[in-house]
Amino acid sequence: MRRVVLLWAVMLLPCSSTFPVQKPELKIRDLKFIEAYLNRFFPAVKKVLKHTLEEQIRQMQEFFHLKVTGKIDTETVQVMDQPRCGVPDVLEYRTFGTERWNKNLLTYRINNYTPDMTRSKVDAAIAKAFKVWSDVTPLQFRKTTGPADIEISFAYNEHGDNIPFDGRSGVLAHAFAPGPGLGGDAHFDEAERWSETNREVNLFLVAAHEFGHSLGLAHSNVYGSLMYPTYSYVNPNNFHLSDDDRDGIQSLYGKRK
Ligand SMILES: [Zn+2]
Ligand SMILES: [Zn+2]
Repeated sequence: MRRVVLLWAVMLLPCSSTFPVQKPELKIRDLKFIEAYLNRFFPAVKKVLKHTLEEQIRQMQEFFHLKVTGKIDTETVQVMDQPRCGVPDVLEYRTFGTERWNKNLLTYRINNYTPDMTRSKVDAAIAKAFKVWSDVTPLQFRKTTGPADIEISFAYNEHGDNIPFDGRSGVLAHAFAPGPGLGGDAHFDEAERWSETNREVNLFLVAAHEFGHSLGLAHSNVYGSLMYPTYSYVNPNNFHLSDDDRDGIQSLYGKRK
């Protein structure tokens, strides 16, 4: 289902209307948006290499399985416009994929609640999101009101970690790799309308993705995987963790006994 939705989104786009960056259709505002997007999600991997905009565009097109041209085309801009996670797709240094929690019982605390849903629905969505990962690993998650490994908050704009949210749509949430302090924490953009259904943004789906980061997973470029960076809706009742996600988390924590 997830796969179908994504392909559908790509097929809606015009085929090959490539236009160079300097064409009048692309306003200065758009160029600024494109540069900001690339610097944020595809930062220079090796500082020694001169990282041109064209290389960043290529990197992004490769990640999202687009036609790799190094030029801004309609398809590329459409992907940039999709609601997504705030964690970079290419990391400046390997934060994710090597870090893991050195224990199997993890605690979480919900610091505040979104007014978009009832508290019990938020609790249920968060618990279900953790269960996605505890179902396939030896990990266990316990909700607490005291100090916790994974702290969950809803916040607007700048919220204390120097990674401000951007208002409605765009970035939906972000999370930190395992570690002390901010490590493992997951933040949700309160400017979104959160829901337990297909209306606006489904909290369970985004939380399950963010908790993947909280546990040490990076983004995947496999269509239909939970750790794919852009949001697409599937009915939470029919949610199925992809092989790619399962292999990723089991490589960090092993299989469920
Ligand atoms: Zn993410
Ligand atoms: Zn944050």
